[in-house]
Amino acid sequence: MIRAAVQTGPRQIEIREFPRPVIGPDDGGLLRVEACGICGSDVEQYKGSMGSQWLPMVPGHEPLGIIEEVSPRAAARWGVKPGDRVAVEILIPCRSCDLCLAGRYMSCRNRIGSHGGSNPPERGLGSWGGFAEYIHLHPNAILHKVRNDIPAEVAVMFNPLGAGVRWAAFLGGVQLGDTVLILGAGQRGLAAVLAARTAGAGTIIVTGLSRDASKLALAREFGADHTIDVEAEDTVSRVLDITGGAGADVVLELTPMASQPVRDALNAVRWGGRVVLAGLKGGRPTELSTDLIINKSLTVMGAFSVDSRGYTEAIRLIEAGRFPLARMHTHTFGLEDVARAIETLAGEVPGEDAVHVAIVPRGTGNLGADRRARARDAGVVPAGAGRVRSLALHVPGRGRRAAAGVGAGALHRADGVVRRGAAAGRQRRQRSRRGGRFPVPAAAELRVAGSCRARSGPLGQRVHRGPVRRGA
Ligand SMILES: [Zn+2]
Ligand SMILES: [Zn+2]
Repeated sequence: MIRAAVQTGPRQIEIREFPRPVIGPDDGGLLRVEACGICGSDVEQYKGSMGSQWLPMVPGHEPLGIIEEVSPRAAARWGVKPGDRVAVEILIPCRSCDLCLAGRYMSCRNRIGSHGGSNPPERGLGSWGGFAEYIHLHPNAILHKVRNDIPAEVAVMFNPLGAGVRWAAFLGGVQLGDTVLILGAGQRGLAAVLAARTAGAGTIIVTGLSRDASKLALAREFGADHTIDVEAEDTVSRVLDITGGAGADVVLELTPMASQPVRDALNAVRWGGRVVLAGLKGGRPTELSTDLIINKSLTVMGAFSVDSRGYTEAIRLIEAGRFPLARMHTHTFGLEDVARAIETLAGEVPGEDAVHVAIVPRGTGNLGADRRARARDAGVVPAGAGRVRSLALHVPGRGRRAAAGVGAGALHRADGVVRRGAAAGRQRRQRSRRGGRFPVPAAAELRVAGSCRARSGPLGQRVHRGPVRRGA
């Protein structure tokens, strides 16, 4: 059986079991999920803002995993074999209509469904999404191979980095020396900083709210020259100040829900500049002056999601180890804690300052010891418990102790700060099983110490080394 998190209604997620699919010759394959990223769309879907017509469903549209089984035909088409690590795109296009053939498969006329997004009722409820131990891959799925030796929490950033690459470099057309204004300091804003810097931007300016202070600090670390707290300063006048009155060459508007940043984008961009809009406003209209677009001769474009080219380049950059992406990963959760993971990214959990959050279905959470052992035997090196369990931890006030079991249910961060121990995890799971919501347990912050097998990743990042606390 396959365990998966199923959303049944707004803010309602439960674990269900699905029979393991039999992969026939015309089928796609079976992907063992290593990690699945979470983004603002997951938050909206969780809250029910995207409608309930597709429920129940298995969410999780940013999955990374290992090919467990693959049909010969799909293997030939995808160029993969069992054991290969791949990133999965959300959309399952027909691959035959005129839009697909023109490369615009994201608006395919005969879309079959998605991996982690909506699926037509005739597909039924299946393990299509990434918040699951395995994904049943449709033969038309779009996969990208990713090198196996990169930490899963980092490799899974193909998604936000793909957005940064597409929006800054491909749509924004950032060129050598350009001034780039990025409105919004979430994971995609930060990824856009990296992409803009790589594309040769001369000056990068990033905006955020007062509560985004740690994200803005990370933006500066990633190469932003200036950051603006929009609650303390006026974005447009500051940008004009920085650019000697000229304005930015390229503006990326990535803020969710707010309409003022759209007006700021049009006012802060230079004459003849480009504005890329990617921050959804929940269907609400934004009042703006189209005269400004005409008189400044602007190019304004919408950025729907990421395309294959964006993902390909992002994966290339991740594999090249150019960026300290692990700095962006703040939280890993197990399958049982999908709801809490989404609430953490949404900023609903007091005291948690999330940037990039991932679900590691077979690593943390409620996996039994036998299941973990089987995972290890199968060569799975999940980013979660399997490794954390082997660590010795320093519990403030309690001295060092063996860490067996700590990974089970513990919320830990790739930078080594383990936020809650085994007991808290057990309690949380018990409460979770009873179906109730529960308060955040007092953070028994465990510090990974001494015998920690800290990995030195290809990004030069020591993972599971701690503690490196940001913000707070
Ligand atoms: Zn997403
Ligand atoms: Zn098509």
